Amino acid sequence: MLTRLPPGLNNEFIMSLALNLLNSIEGYSRAKYSTWFYFRPDNTLFDAGEGVSTTLSNRIYGVERILISHGHGDHIGGIPGFLFSRASSMGDVEKPLEICYPKGDRNVQKMISYVQGILRDPPFELTWRGLSPGDRIELPAENRFIDCFPTEHIRSGISLGYRILETRNRLRHEYRDLSQSEIVERIREIGRQEMSETYDKPLLIYGGDSMPIPTHYVEGAEVLLHDATFLFPEDRQEKTHATVEEAVEVARKAGVKGLLLFHLSTRYRRSEIRKVIQEVVSRSGLKIPVVYSFPRGLPTNLQTVD
Ligand SMILES: [Zn+2]
Ligand SMILES: [Zn+2]
Repeated sequence: MLTRLPPGLNNEFIMSLALNLLNSIEGYSRAKYSTWFYFRPDNTLFDAGEGVSTTLSNRIYGVERILISHGHGDHIGGIPGFLFSRASSMGDVEKPLEICYPKGDRNVQKMISYVQGILRDPPFELTWRGLSPGDRIELPAENRFIDCFPTEHIRSGISLGYRILETRNRLRHEYRDLSQSEIVERIREIGRQEMSETYDKPLLIYGGDSMPIPTHYVEGAEVLLHDATFLFPEDRQEKTHATVEEAVEVARKAGVKGLLLFHLSTRYRRSEIRKVIQEVVSRSGLKIPVVYSFPRGLPTNLQTVD
C-alpha cells in the first residue's frame, strides 16, 4: 500500500526524472483485494480496485481516463463507486471520462451493463473503449500518447499493460560523434531538421497483473510498475503472476531508471517482504530507486529499498 514517496529517497537520487515520475504516483495494491495507481501528470488512473474513490476523494475529478488491465475483481471493483461519486460530489461533474479495457473482457462487459443499469444518465460523457494490443490512446499533451501491449495473466482472454510514451527529438546516429562546434556548423549547412530524428521514449509502464513482461516492451523506460506477487517461486501454483526476483530482472535487463513493485501477496509478513526485496535488489546490482507496497495494514507511505 502506498500513497507517497518517503522523503529519504529524495536524498539519494536527486531530481532524476524517474524519481519525479515515482513521486507523481499515488496508489494502493494488495493482491486479490484491490489495486489502483493514479499518475497525476497525465490524469490517468491505472486499474480501479475497491477504495479508489474514497482514497482519492475529490481528486477523482482530476482523472480523465481509467485504463483497466483486466477484469478481475481486485482491479475493477472500485469502478461503480468512482462513477457514482464523480456524478454527485463537489467537483466538475460534467468533465468527460473515458474507460479503456481489454476488448471482449467478459467481467468488464458485465460491469458496463451494471453501471448503465443504475447510472442511467450521468452528468458527464462516459466512454467505454475496448482495446487490443498495439492500440493507441492520444493524450491532450501533443507529444505524449499511450499504447498497450499483451500481458501473460489470463488464460482465456486478453490482459493488457500500458505504456506512456513521449515523442522526442535527437541527433541522428551519424552525427552523434561530432563536437559541439561541428554540430553548429552542420546545422548552418543542412538545417536542424535534417540532422535530427524523432523517437518515442517510454516514460512509465504499468503491467497490471502479469508474469514477467518481455523486455522489448520495457526497454529504456524511466519507470516500471511490475507485478511482484510472490517472494518465493515455490509459492506460485499457476503461471499468472511474477516473483520479486523476476520483476527486478525485467527492470535490470530493460535498463529502467525506477521500479515500483506491487500486488504482493498477503501471505507474507512485513519483515519477510522487506528482507527478501532488499536481498534480491542488492544481488541484482540494480542502482535505481526501488519502491514497493506492503499488502497488509493501513495505507502507508511507499517503502524504499535501502
Ligand atoms: Zn490482481
Ligand atoms: Zn488478476
